[in-house]
Amino acid sequence: MPEFDTLISARDAIRSKQVSAVELTRRALERIAQLEPRIQAFNSVADERAMGRAKAVDAGEITGALAGMPIALKDNLCTSWGTTTCSSKMLENFRAPYDATVVKKLEAAGAVIVGKTNLDEFAMGSSTENSAFKTTRNPWDTDRVPGGSSGGSAAALAAGMCVASIGSDTGGSIRQPAALCGLVGLKPTYGRVSRYGLVAFASSLDQVGPFGRTVADTALMMNVISGHDRKDSTSVPSAVPDYLADLETPLKGLRLGIVKEYDLASGIDPEVKRAVDAAVAMYKQLGATIVDVSLPTTPYGIAAYYVIAPCEASSNLARYDGVHFGHRTKEPVNDIIELFSKSRAEGFGEEVQRRIMIGTYALSSGYYDAYYVRALQLRTLIRRDFDNAFSQCDAIVCPTSPIPAFKAGEKSGDPLQMYLCDVFTVTCNIAGIAGISIPCGFTAGEKPLPIGLQLLGPNFSEEKLLRIARMYEAATEWHTRRAPLA
Ligand code: GLN
Repeated sequence: MPEFDTLISARDAIRSKQVSAVELTRRALERIAQLEPRIQAFNSVADERAMGRAKAVDAGEITGALAGMPIALKDNLCTSWGTTTCSSKMLENFRAPYDATVVKKLEAAGAVIVGKTNLDEFAMGSSTENSAFKTTRNPWDTDRVPGGSSGGSAAALAAGMCVASIGSDTGGSIRQPAALCGLVGLKPTYGRVSRYGLVAFASSLDQVGPFGRTVADTALMMNVISGHDRKDSTSVPSAVPDYLADLETPLKGLRLGIVKEYDLASGIDPEVKRAVDAAVAMYKQLGATIVDVSLPTTPYGIAAYYVIAPCEASSNLARYDGVHFGHRTKEPVNDIIELFSKSRAEGFGEEVQRRIMIGTYALSSGYYDAYYVRALQLRTLIRRDFDNAFSQCDAIVCPTSPIPAFKAGEKSGDPLQMYLCDVFTVTCNIAGIAGISIPCGFTAGEKPLPIGLQLLGPNFSEEKLLRIARMYEAATEWHTRRAPLA
């Protein structure tokens, strides 16, 4: 295993002067140069800027909890330098005039941002194949996808191109790629992390969150990025605990919920099921009580999500018309409407166009009640289901993704198949609660693929979720395995 490839080990190595920030950054950049042709994780690499900041760390001019840490950033977070593309032709040359709050917080803590990572266009997808620029590959098997939409951030970390990374999660986009790449990924409670400067996809669902190799790495990232922000009216003004403080203290009297209806959800890969069952058995051994809980609305989660998210997307993406924002057609046009429609047809890819059409349709006056209002009613019921479940358990335990990493091209022609991969992740965003994915095993075979375990907890249960995750991590070794390329 390469030295200092976890965030905590890298931080400690810098503090004890075993390695310099310049040396760590140089290693990350070398690794990017070496592996990028095969992994395709980055839309842009900020080498010069990163080296400049690393030097400033070594000179003592920049300090903080993440001083000198090479970190990768999903390319839908605004930076006042470089481009912010959302992996869309629409924003190919977009230069944001300001830094997202998360970026500000990371850099104030001394992080060295090495580059901006590939995603499904505007974060719509589960494989990173919907990028307008490139298809990111999974470092565990480069024939396969890393998951999505934060696939670039997950692949970059799994390939050792950084020591932690940032993604966004609207319906699973941090947790699912974390599962498929053998990482820890956390979707914070809605309102825990500022979304100021995150390019909006579905505003009532979007959250920014971290990827780490370990639970402690993820906790440290949460310490830095969480907190109230006046610039995001949906961010919550409650104090941020130190997520590292009690991490090693096992949760006494832990009750974990198994969702009855999740057994019926068809299409769970047998190897995933086995690994998740074994993880539950391990928790039992660690003293947890396993309780059966019920989420009766389970069969409607995907349907509700794939109405709400496209509705909000169709509204958020209306601003890209070639005049206010985004790509403008060079074709001759007769009027402004033609300018809008040609620019949008050229700038948006197929999946984004599909979502805009679904959303516009579902919001149109004749169908609003039948689709959007019903989806919102379901949203209330889904929230209520979780409230009931959490009155009986501390957290729900289930698979993150029903299947391990699939082959590139395998599902890209069939949107519905792709949507079904999100069955265990979308309800968390619909309810606004917190969720984490941690490594819980590997498939058998020549190229073992990581399997992810998901823990879901009530609002602002991040501290508890991290502790529960750490209990399992401390008793297992999955998190110490590295992708063959890393
Ligand atoms: N796969 C889901 C979608 O395509 C979730 C994406 C996300 O969380 N950004 O909408």
